[in-house]
Amino acid sequence: MQTVRVSRRTLRQYRGVIRDDLMQEILDLAGALRGLRVVHVNATPVGGGVAELLQSVVPLQRSLGLDARWMVMEPEEAFFDATKHLHNLLQGAPGELSEDERRTYLACNERTAAEMRRFRADVWVIHDPQPAAAGAALAGVPRIWRCHIDTSQPNPEAAAFVLSFVNRYDALVYSRPEFRLPGAAAPRVAIIEPAIDPLLAKNRRVPPARAREVLRRIGIDPTRPLVAQVARLDPWKDPLGVIDAYRLAKRRVPDLQLALLGVMAAKDDPEAARVYRAVRAYAGDDPDVHIYVDGSVIGPLEVAAVQSAAAVVLQKSLREGFGLSATEAMWKGVPVVVGNVGGLRSQVVDGVTGYCVNTVEECAERLVRLLTNRTLARRLGRAARERVRDHYLLPRMVRDELRLYQAILEDRGRPAAARPLAVPAASEPAAAS
Ligand code: UDP
Repeated sequence: MQTVRVSRRTLRQYRGVIRDDLMQEILDLAGALRGLRVVHVNATPVGGGVAELLQSVVPLQRSLGLDARWMVMEPEEAFFDATKHLHNLLQGAPGELSEDERRTYLACNERTAAEMRRFRADVWVIHDPQPAAAGAALAGVPRIWRCHIDTSQPNPEAAAFVLSFVNRYDALVYSRPEFRLPGAAAPRVAIIEPAIDPLLAKNRRVPPARAREVLRRIGIDPTRPLVAQVARLDPWKDPLGVIDAYRLAKRRVPDLQLALLGVMAAKDDPEAARVYRAVRAYAGDDPDVHIYVDGSVIGPLEVAAVQSAAAVVLQKSLREGFGLSATEAMWKGVPVVVGNVGGLRSQVVDGVTGYCVNTVEECAERLVRLLTNRTLARRLGRAARERVRDHYLLPRMVRDELRLYQAILEDRGRPAAARPLAVPAASEPAAAS
C-alpha cells in the first residue's frame, strides 16, 4: 500500500467561512479524540470524489490532533476491472460478478489486509467497496465502512457480496438514508453527507477577467454562453444525455457552447477510455462541443474557471452518491441543473437552489429557462451558494465524522477522554503533514 502525502490545514483557516459554534463543537470533539490513529483506506490517490474529500479531511483531522493517515491500495489492472463492475452492479446495473472477478477481488484484498495488519490503527475507515474485504479481515480494531456510491437500487447479488464483508464492521456510513443496503447488520449506521473544502483553489470563484483568459486558452469563446459538466466519463454521469440536452437547448440559444471536463485520472475507472471514444463519436464534428480528458490541460484552475464562467453547470447523473461537482459549482454561485437522483437531491431544492430533472427534454427546458432569464439564474445561483455554506462545507463533515469515531469507541467500551481544546484561534495544534 502507498501512503498519500497531504498538504497542511488548520481549523483556524475556516474562521469567517463557518459558524463559530460549529468551530467550537469540532474543537470539543477533537479534544476528546487527541492522538487517535485514524487510517483512511481507498483505491486511488487522484481522480473522483473520494480522493477529493480525503485530500482535505486527512489534513484537517491531523490539525485537530488526530493521528490521521491516508493509504491507498496498489492493485493490478484486473482488480479495477472487477471493482468497476462491482461498483456498477451496486448502482443497479444488471448482471453478476464472475468467479474470476470474485477471485481477483479477494486475492488483492487478502494482500491488502496483510499489509494493513502491519500498521497500528485505532480506527480504520474503509472507503467504498474496493478495500471492503480487507477491512473485514482485521478483527479486533474498530472499523467503519464509508459508502460513497448510490446504492439505492443495488443489484441484490452484488449487495450480498459486499454485505458479507461490511457486516463485520462497527459502523456503516452512507450519504443518504435510502442508500442503506437491505440486510446490513452492522451495529451502527450513520448518514454523513459529503462536503467541499472552500480553501482549495478549485473551489474559489475565478474573477471574470481571469476566467475569460483561461477559457480562451483552452479554446472556449468567453463571449458566448457556456454550459458545462465536470465529471468522470462514466455512463452513470450520462454524458450522451448531456449532449442531447445541449442540442435541444441550442435550437433556442444558437450560440450555446458545451464543455465536458472528464479528466481521466482515476486509476479505479478503467471504463473511462471506452466512454471517451463513445462521447467523442456522439459529439461528431460540432465545433461548439469541447471535451477535455487531459490532466496536463485541465487542472484545478481550469475546472474553477469553467465552473465560474458557465451560465449553467449540469450534473445530469442517472445515479449519484453525492456529486461534489455540483456542490463546487453551487459554491461559486452558478445555477445548476442536476439529475433527480441520489445525493444531488439533497443539494438541489428544485426551483430554489437549482433544478432537478428526470429527462433530457426537462433538462433542455430548464437550461433554456436559465440561459434566457438572467434574474432567475442569479437568484438560483445565490440560493445555491447559501445552501452550500449552510450544509456542505468541509468542517461540518469532519464534525460528523468525529462524532461517529467517539460513538464507536464508546460502543467498544473505550470512553472518549474529556479534554476539550481551547477556543482561541492561536491555541489550535499545528498541522502536521
Ligand atoms: N473532476 C476534476 N476534473 C475533471 C472531472 C472531475 O477535477 O475533469 C473532479 C470534480 O471537480 C470533483 C470530482 O472530480 O471534485 C468528482 O467528484 P463527484 O463527487 O462529482 O463524482 P465521482 O467521480 O466521485 O463519482
